[in-house]
Amino acid sequence: MIIRTIMRKMLFASTKGGIPPVTFREALLEGQPKDYGLYMPVSIPSIPAEEIESFRRMEYRDIAYRVIYPYVEGSICPGALKNILKEIYDFDIPLQRAGENLHLLWLTRGPTASFKDFAARFMSGIIGYFAMEDNAEVTILVATSGDTGGAVARAFGGNKNVKVVILFPEEEVTPVQRKQMTTPGRNIIPFAVRGKFDDCQAMAKRAFNDRSLGRYNLVSANSINFGRLLPQAVYYFYAFSRMDKEKVVFSVPSGNFGNLMGGLLAMKMGLPVEKFIAAVNLNDEFPSFLETGTYRAVVPSRQCSSNAMNVGHPSNLARLVSLYGGLMSDERDREGNVTKRGALLVNPDMEKMRNDLISYSIGEDEADRTIVDFWHEKAILLEPHGAVAVSAARRYKGARQVISIETADPAKFPVKIRELLGIDPPVPESLRSIDGLEEKYYILDNDYDIFREKFTGMLS
Ligand SMILES: *Cc1c(COP(=O)(O)O)cnc(C)c1O
Repeated sequence: MIIRTIMRKMLFASTKGGIPPVTFREALLEGQPKDYGLYMPVSIPSIPAEEIESFRRMEYRDIAYRVIYPYVEGSICPGALKNILKEIYDFDIPLQRAGENLHLLWLTRGPTASFKDFAARFMSGIIGYFAMEDNAEVTILVATSGDTGGAVARAFGGNKNVKVVILFPEEEVTPVQRKQMTTPGRNIIPFAVRGKFDDCQAMAKRAFNDRSLGRYNLVSANSINFGRLLPQAVYYFYAFSRMDKEKVVFSVPSGNFGNLMGGLLAMKMGLPVEKFIAAVNLNDEFPSFLETGTYRAVVPSRQCSSNAMNVGHPSNLARLVSLYGGLMSDERDREGNVTKRGALLVNPDMEKMRNDLISYSIGEDEADRTIVDFWHEKAILLEPHGAVAVSAARRYKGARQVISIETADPAKFPVKIRELLGIDPPVPESLRSIDGLEEKYYILDNDYDIFREKFTGMLS
């Protein structure tokens, strides 16, 4: 009997295979396995075609339950999961027709007007549940270049058993992004670091390895946590269910490839996807890899107006490679510092990967032109990230039906929109409502010991 219960639980293994498999709960709370691989489910559960068909009559939260439960079984009971999903997915997810063969999936109606809300709210619900179950306090530590911090802060704001410490580069976030991090509540502790995003990330990394901080139960909410990926599989099922089609193509604006991995997971579970278009900006390491089979990270990453996609070495790429039987890993020295990014230790099945995926690198001019065309021809307002995906969809010729994903509200890019179209984008209520709130944050020199002292002082 005991054996049966254990076997029914989904287990998660490291892509590098250097640790024994763990439960969903352990994978989520640990974030990254000790061998520096990434957690992946040992086997991907499949959803029968008839059940996917039945999604056409279901609400988002019920589809979410069907997609997510097989992964979390044994870590969360069905009733608790249902309650969490009902609470966190309470906003619209419009699918807009934008041409004969093109639809836009707007994942931008959450509280921070970014698709990051889907994952951040899921993490918040689940981690809050684990903390409550253990009657323990958990501290989320996150380094952010902008969007993730805001989504995490808003999602966890007011959560009783969870504190959130955010490190962001003082000079590199927009005022709106900063306000999203500095206004949500007393359990959110934001630090504006006098440094770059990489400095914030280095500081967070040291804190995770700092044994003297062990009693704070630090949990990472960064893009490699499997808990961020899983909820991103759901909207692919949802979008498909709202189309009257047998197969679709998705165009995904990609940076760290978490969004795309959610889609690939959905496809491996049985969703009838003809192709994924991995749409990237000038950071073209992935389309080059797909074409040549040789991987070269773009260092330093190139700066484009789709700034959340300025990633020269996607953190989820090792996961994608593992789905196709390969093994990719950063080489590290004995201190754990990366010496080579994305070394291919086992080649993936490139033919199979090319069968599922196509990738385009879209330059600034092309993305800008798409924004201008869509406004003048269709009265549809796009922003830089979504415009990269739509541009890639326009390049892809084989498509019967493309669903292009919109990841941010245009109101988050007023300067760009004004410059291209001469208008001010309408500001959604979620962004307006933070305007008058009082900001609270701490400015921090780029120095780990000072951070440590402040951190322990404030959390004790
Ligand atoms: C994070 C982000 C992306 C990129 O998503 P990945 O999962 O990192 O590929 C695209 N657009 C916006 C607006 C984002 O915030």
